Amino acid sequence: MNPREVGVWKEKIPQIGRMMEGEEIVWLNPLLESTASGLAQTELTAEDVRDAADRLHRFAPYIKRVFPETEDSEGLIESPLTAISKMKEALSARYGVSMPGQLLLKQDDSLPISGSIKARGGIYEVLKHAETLALQHGLISDGEDYSRFAEPEFRNLFATHKIAVGSTGNLGLSIGIMSAKLGFNVTVHMSADAKQWKKDLLREKGVTVVEYADDYSKAVEEGRRQAESDPLCHFIDDENSTDLFLGYAVAGERVAKQLKERGTVVNAQHPLFVYLPCGVGGGPGGVAFGLKLAFGDHVHCFFAEPTHSPCMTLGMMTGLHDAVSVHDFGLDNKTAADGLAVGTASGFVGKTMQPFMDGCYTVSDKTLFDLLKLLADKEDIHLEPSALAGMPGPVNSIHAKVEKAGSTEATHIVWATGGGMVPEEEMNLYYGKAGK
Ligand SMILES: *Cc1c(COP(=O)(O)O)cnc(C)c1O
Repeated sequence: MNPREVGVWKEKIPQIGRMMEGEEIVWLNPLLESTASGLAQTELTAEDVRDAADRLHRFAPYIKRVFPETEDSEGLIESPLTAISKMKEALSARYGVSMPGQLLLKQDDSLPISGSIKARGGIYEVLKHAETLALQHGLISDGEDYSRFAEPEFRNLFATHKIAVGSTGNLGLSIGIMSAKLGFNVTVHMSADAKQWKKDLLREKGVTVVEYADDYSKAVEEGRRQAESDPLCHFIDDENSTDLFLGYAVAGERVAKQLKERGTVVNAQHPLFVYLPCGVGGGPGGVAFGLKLAFGDHVHCFFAEPTHSPCMTLGMMTGLHDAVSVHDFGLDNKTAADGLAVGTASGFVGKTMQPFMDGCYTVSDKTLFDLLKLLADKEDIHLEPSALAGMPGPVNSIHAKVEKAGSTEATHIVWATGGGMVPEEEMNLYYGKAGK
């Protein structure tokens, strides 16, 4: 983008100039539409999400068999929804804003198997691919017990097939762990900002890790290129995969069930607000899509991004989606929130979600670290920096005067996207960065 075009955008959208200065901003989406009208504009349907949920049910006996930590949930990979009232008080005090509604934390940091939101979409896509191959080769048929996927004839088949993915870290962990467990030959292409412990852990599990000096987009591009030349290789495409998206979307009905169980009503008088940390967009976009199917116009979803990597915010603001990068606006895509360090958002997700999102906002690394410490001190919950991006959401929607956000009838869900696998020494380093 040339300097003149940048100037035009700055004129048009007042937040852009402030974003270029590295400031935190809130943007309300003028293209928000009714859920019905949003659904009429996409090919993805409630049936697609139901199909994904059914598939995860078919695989539950297998998951339970090979990951004993899923015993209690009968092989479903799900996380708790936790009331964080001490954190609510602390946020009110920190920002000087009264927050009369309910504040809940969706703890995807404690999702089994890989400790992040990627245990939803990532694992789902690997399972779907395994099912497709098993059906093609006549190893399984309709209605059979899927715990058989742990048997040697399945592993022998998968050993002749490859799975590849490009990742900043957590997607690689999910895909790598699940694929290796099934017996696939799996390669994770990792960007420069991926953490050493993630690479070590994957190699320990027999995953091939290829490292790139460049950022995330480069790792994805290279992974895609290598996979394309090999018909036995399935490339998991974080930027374009509808399977990933649908795996994430199953969260909608799961949250609806959890809210019902805890007696929380969602309707026109009692709106739900959900704040989702966003990188390339598939995870938070998929979850938001599932929430819209479950709650329609009564749920209000926001994407949260680092001030240095607001790719989805810029893509939606300008309507340019994946044709714009944070570098076009002079931003460097450098952030401690490694799960969100993405310079260009998924065009597929941006375009699909434009009519469904209430808005986007950005968070500085300093805020992420301060909130990381605050949550640890108040609630003894330990998240990775990316996972805190949702936390200022309630304050932002109240400040922006989003209807009913500041009422007692509101329920706010902060989506905590990861942290469960972070080694303790690493977590201590994060904790020590608060207040700096
Ligand atoms: C990947 C990730 C996200 C964002 O998901 P995208 O699909 O990249 O938008 C948020 N938080 C954490 C911890 C992640 O690993």
